[in-house]
Amino acid sequence: MAKKVKASASSAKRVYFFGDGKAEGNAKMKELLGGKGANLAEMSRLGIRVPPGFTVTTEVCTYFMNTNGKYPKGLKEEAETALKKVEKIMGARFGDAQNPLLFSVRSGARVSMPGMMESVLNIGLNETTSPGLIAKAGNERFVYDAYRRLIMMYSDVVMEKAAGIEPKEGMGIRQQLESQMRKMKDAKGVKDDTELDVDDLKKLVNIFKKKVKQVLKKDFPDDPYDQLWGAISAVFQSWNGKRAVAYRRIENIPNDWGTAVNVQTMVFGNMGNDSATGVAFTRDPATGEDKFYGEFLVNAQGEDVVAGIRTPQAINAVSKTEASKHLPSLEELMPALYKQLAKIRTKLEEHYRDMQDIEFTIQDGKLFMLQTRVGKRNGTAAVRMAVDMCEQGLISKEEAILRVKPEQLDELLHPMLDPRAEKSAEKLAGGLPAGPGGAIGQIVFTADDADAWAKAGKKVVLVRDETSPEDVHGMRAAQAILTAKGGMTSHAALVARGWGKCCIVGCGALNISAAKKVLSVNGRKLHEGDWISLNGTKGIVYDGTLGLLPADPEKNVHYKKLMSWADKLRKLNIRTNADNPKDARAARNFGAEGIGLTRTEHMFFGPDRIAAMRQMILADDEAGRKKALKKLLPLQRRDFIGIFKVMDGLPVTIRTLDPPLHEFLPNDEASQKEMAEQMGVSVDTIKAKVQSLHELNPMLGHRGCRLGITYPEITAMQVQAIIEAACHVTKQGVKVLPEIMIPLVGTKAELEDQRKLAVDTAEMVINKTGARGTGHGARVKYLVGTMIEIPRAAITADQIAEVAEFFSFGTNDLTQMTFGYSRDDAGTFLPDYLSKKILPAEPFQTLDQEGVGQLVDMGIRRGRSSRPDLKVGICGEHGGDPKSIDFCHRVGMNYVSCSPFRVPIARLAAARAAIENKK
Ligand code: PEP
Ligand code: MG
Repeated sequence: MAKKVKASASSAKRVYFFGDGKAEGNAKMKELLGGKGANLAEMSRLGIRVPPGFTVTTEVCTYFMNTNGKYPKGLKEEAETALKKVEKIMGARFGDAQNPLLFSVRSGARVSMPGMMESVLNIGLNETTSPGLIAKAGNERFVYDAYRRLIMMYSDVVMEKAAGIEPKEGMGIRQQLESQMRKMKDAKGVKDDTELDVDDLKKLVNIFKKKVKQVLKKDFPDDPYDQLWGAISAVFQSWNGKRAVAYRRIENIPNDWGTAVNVQTMVFGNMGNDSATGVAFTRDPATGEDKFYGEFLVNAQGEDVVAGIRTPQAINAVSKTEASKHLPSLEELMPALYKQLAKIRTKLEEHYRDMQDIEFTIQDGKLFMLQTRVGKRNGTAAVRMAVDMCEQGLISKEEAILRVKPEQLDELLHPMLDPRAEKSAEKLAGGLPAGPGGAIGQIVFTADDADAWAKAGKKVVLVRDETSPEDVHGMRAAQAILTAKGGMTSHAALVARGWGKCCIVGCGALNISAAKKVLSVNGRKLHEGDWISLNGTKGIVYDGTLGLLPADPEKNVHYKKLMSWADKLRKLNIRTNADNPKDARAARNFGAEGIGLTRTEHMFFGPDRIAAMRQMILADDEAGRKKALKKLLPLQRRDFIGIFKVMDGLPVTIRTLDPPLHEFLPNDEASQKEMAEQMGVSVDTIKAKVQSLHELNPMLGHRGCRLGITYPEITAMQVQAIIEAACHVTKQGVKVLPEIMIPLVGTKAELEDQRKLAVDTAEMVINKTGARGTGHGARVKYLVGTMIEIPRAAITADQIAEVAEFFSFGTNDLTQMTFGYSRDDAGTFLPDYLSKKILPAEPFQTLDQEGVGQLVDMGIRRGRSSRPDLKVGICGEHGGDPKSIDFCHRVGMNYVSCSPFRVPIARLAAARAAIENKK
């Protein structure tokens, strides 16, 4: 690879000129010219005025890196030719005493890496050229100010950082020069840099030069060409600077891309009151409205706009804010220039067919565009722009769908913390983003407290080491859930996601003492009742209360339109994982086309049924179990009736009991006592039973279909409840399509056993209830299928499909068993695996296509080899993850099933998969 780059860098064109309505490059050449260079070339071709210059390619960067800082032969000559063209356009010369030209030298990678690499401005200023520039600009102070800025920037970026010098904390050359400047201001008794006059700045230039020599043992270079090549090398070197390397690691940007370098004529927005500089977006990036939006400063440099020292002015009336409403806009101040800018806006949008983020400078009444790039936007704006641009004929429906990242819909579906408040808020800790959206509440440490405080009208955040099914009432009552332990498929994460509740798990910095009702985090102590704010989309915990922005997707016409386009294009059906009528209703409103998983165990935790469940588990014999199950039957039937009614006309997959039984038993002394009293047995009997059910590896123990095989009466009761409910609502005219799903099957024989039991029970119920015949008494149709969540099931899927009418991939367990990572304990090592890049992504969140995915693909193929019309879906957490949904589309699944709040995300992701895989 390195060899190839070397060869091409020494033979190919390495310098691309742009300016005066011409350019050697274009927007498609981002790999070679970087995003900035490619777009500068494109703007120039479009006849938009950019300060002329040239781009040195990314291949030169790679060559420079591979050869320890050498340049390919002939590069300087190529650059010189381009530089001469620039001089001609500008009617000025680099290094000339009378009419000098100055350059900026900036980085520009293929993708934007904001602030991660270096730039040097004002290259070409020295003792010889400064008088010429003073004469030209008619402003001596401006020139000396530029000169002292050059020395500061150059000594820092080129002479120190690029030279590999690592000064002690606070002793960097930039800080030392800043302290010289501060000394001068103190001596004069002034505060602002602008209060230093020409003589001060002249003195400062000399002081700076001396200091540079003293600290770095080298003279500040006076030769403009030394300055230029020093700066170019430093920018190339900054590709391997600490910040840039760290950023690339986080953003998964390959190290061998390299950066291009843009050498461009300096234009000054600070040459007086006919000069200005600003930034703008071709549409409002916060709302997506088709309004030109931006701000600027008169007589200022680009960095002043961002630095926030002066209040920027709005470019037009619609951009005015509270802070800028009293200041004149660019449109009011310089109407002709504003008109030019507005024209450029239209030209850029029509050309790029997307919202652009632009930078401009006005020098002496002349407008220059410095940059254009596709602008970043929030979710709401992304949806609006995509739909508007499609309706304005700029893009197709397919493109509109590809413009919105599925994750961006989260912002429309959940309340969010106010992003402006987040900027200035104190971050307490970070964890895994398990449930999206924002929430604010007072800390409570137990589920009972959460419940009680919420009933008293308070907003609470339930903070625990980890949650268990016993905490569900408190979790429901809380605004958000925060846990110190657990991963993305931990109990807290699953439950919260199902409800669309904000949740952060695995927040390791929390040290919780639930008994003392206090937690410590990064040296801070927080007590019960203290307020915190959570960003569950990013996994950040803040101290205090931040503003919350409400969500109301139903009122968003753009969102609804985009989703209707997505529905027409997608091939996958979208179902939901829901355990109760409320969640089912929410999911249906979000567009779910059925239920892909009802986890029946969640129904047994309600206060009215946990006792009967425990009696069933504690019973000594079948008769005892049957007695307890009889109590559960009507309750379970009622649950199903509720769900069937909500899902009228849509399929509902119901899974028989899955978790190990001991999860239902009381673990603490007090509840064991209560249990003993209820059942009329001794506490010791209860304790002994709890003990006897204890397993070393419960997730690999007595759970799933193994329970139904040992205790057939459990499966029988559940099937009876399902079919009775189905017969009941059928008689009321509801259309039911129940699908009975057997979990954790590894062999055909296991499924055969449970299937026979299910079919016998169902037929018995149908015969008894008389749900045969026509009309409202029509025979209830049902399917019996299985989950594929054990590797052996995927491998023997052809055999299993002989007795399964459908497959649903349980990729949570399948991931656990394929990797051999415990779902509940992986949080202890997965963060290291991710930061060390041992794994590319959290495998419980994004399906591991290379490994687990192979089993899924094989399972589908083998399953369909013996049953061609086998219906296949997924109900693990991956069913709501866009990348995994793309995979599900490619392997030919019929549907994905995910938590209710992820249904819209899945609809969009499925449409994107259909579009992208057609390309
Ligand atoms: C699975 O294993 O993917 C699944 C959906 O089941 P559960 O998470 O309930 O084990
Ligand atoms: Mg499972």
